[in-house]
Amino acid sequence: MNSYIEKVDFFKGNNPEEIAKTYGTPLYVYNEEILRSHMHDVSQVITKYAYTANYSVKANTNINILKLALEEGNNCDAMSVGEIEMLLKAGFPEERIFYIPNNVAEEELEFAIHNGIMTSLDSLAQLELYGQVCENLGLSVDDRGRCCAVRINPGVGAGHHEKVVTGGKKTKFGISEDFIPQIFEITKKYNLKIVGINQHIGSCFMDPQPYLDAVTNLLRIATENFPGLEFIDFGGGYGIPYHKLDDEAPFPMEDFKKKLEPILDAFVEKYGSKPLFKSEPGRFCVAEGSVILGRVHAIKENNGHSFAGTDIGMNVLVRPSMYDSWHDVEVIREGKVVARDNLIEQTVTGNICESGDILAKARPLPQIKRGDLACLLDTGAYGWSMCSTYNSRPRPAEVMICKDGTVKQIRRRETIEDLMGLF
Ligand SMILES: *Cc1c(COP(=O)(O)O)cnc(C)c1O
Repeated sequence: MNSYIEKVDFFKGNNPEEIAKTYGTPLYVYNEEILRSHMHDVSQVITKYAYTANYSVKANTNINILKLALEEGNNCDAMSVGEIEMLLKAGFPEERIFYIPNNVAEEELEFAIHNGIMTSLDSLAQLELYGQVCENLGLSVDDRGRCCAVRINPGVGAGHHEKVVTGGKKTKFGISEDFIPQIFEITKKYNLKIVGINQHIGSCFMDPQPYLDAVTNLLRIATENFPGLEFIDFGGGYGIPYHKLDDEAPFPMEDFKKKLEPILDAFVEKYGSKPLFKSEPGRFCVAEGSVILGRVHAIKENNGHSFAGTDIGMNVLVRPSMYDSWHDVEVIREGKVVARDNLIEQTVTGNICESGDILAKARPLPQIKRGDLACLLDTGAYGWSMCSTYNSRPRPAEVMICKDGTVKQIRRRETIEDLMGLF
């Protein structure tokens, strides 16, 4: 593919150079239509049984994007009180929020109970703490607050990098199957009721098989240990094609759905009741709905290597330095994508004082010039939400290309005064 942004008309007829001039760079640019279509797609993974796709908001918590998820009918997963507050502010009712924290203080659990938000506990210790909080709050034995979920560590994991595998014997997450008897000791002691179980094997897999195996396994665990659950949550992690300029295929959603259904059929037949099924996709909902525009400020040759220095530092997009992640790069000159012929190996870097501040290493790209825009693809997930102010660089603005083609700022650029204000 020569250009993804041209192929999908990402800017909907707007000139990216003008957007960059109006709002400054670096700049996160979102496309409402693409975001909505992915949020809708995940809600259709299971259609035969009661199902909700919970958008896992840590991928992107911009309140305007949360509102899109609300409108598309997704429920949401939160990992912190901050994320719950964002969701409430975006208009989500409590019952559409699922809280999946790990290693949190009493206050956070208390907050969830006070707000009537279903919580999944990630360890025996946190389950015990949850029970103590219920006692301290003086909840009656049949109070809904005593209903909670537990996160199971399925013993297997998958993902694009060791750092994003969240299931398996070596990860910190969940309660392993061996400890199920202890779960029930704790629930008995504190009059808790386990109404749901969840798992999450990891992030960004393109082969659905490990996920399907983990679903089968979780359903077996439910059948053997947890009769009468209200919900069973299979986790997120569906990948997106980060190498789209090399024509990488998308996650095989249709094939995945076809293989998932008979697994659910077999379970429902044995289980005796029909729990609500859930999943927790984050990246899949938002990654492809955003690009970052950054200005190229300096070109240089160092020992035979060509570098294009941009204002997209690792504080703006940390994924490449944190996970060795790949983001496709398109070069925009005077508002037009530069054709991908006469490719020359160049390294695209940021403006942070770290040797790891690299966006794209030794990449065949059209010859980049000072003043060009570097356009990084697929930055909607774990992009802005992982931004920092390292090197005292304020965090970037975000704009949305709306369905009708208008451009709307959905988060203003942070200022030095914002940073100073903390002192
Ligand atoms: C991060 C996370 C997700 C979402 O993962 P994606 O790869 O973005 O789909 C889902 N569930 C839990 C528990 C998570 O921590």
